[in-house]
Amino acid sequence: MDELWAENDISVERNHDINRWCDSCKAQYGFKRDKDTGEIWWHPKAQRMAYWIITSKVFNAGVIRKYCLSCINELENIDGKPYPIQDQLRDAQKLGKFWKLSTAVGKVVDSD
Ligand SMILES: [Zn+2]
Repeated sequence: MDELWAENDISVERNHDINRWCDSCKAQYGFKRDKDTGEIWWHPKAQRMAYWIITSKVFNAGVIRKYCLSCINELENIDGKPYPIQDQLRDAQKLGKFWKLSTAVGKVVDSD
């Protein structure tokens, strides 16, 4: 992995593993359930390869989040104003908080 940025216990790295998917897309699209077999699998849109891996460590607990480019672009835009991920992480750490982003929950939707 290529490190883009690191400071204190937070880092942003490039992902090269096709099996590491965007957490935000996973949370958004979740799983699909086959109506006939009842089988559940990740929605195809949830399987988007992550571009960035963000690790943030606060109170000795590590939090890792993976994002594709389109999700990170959305996250870096707050009410139409740019708010770079590095600044968000720095601010979260100053406040002694985990970065606000939630992890993938993974809803289940029935297939068409
Ligand atoms: Zn995404």
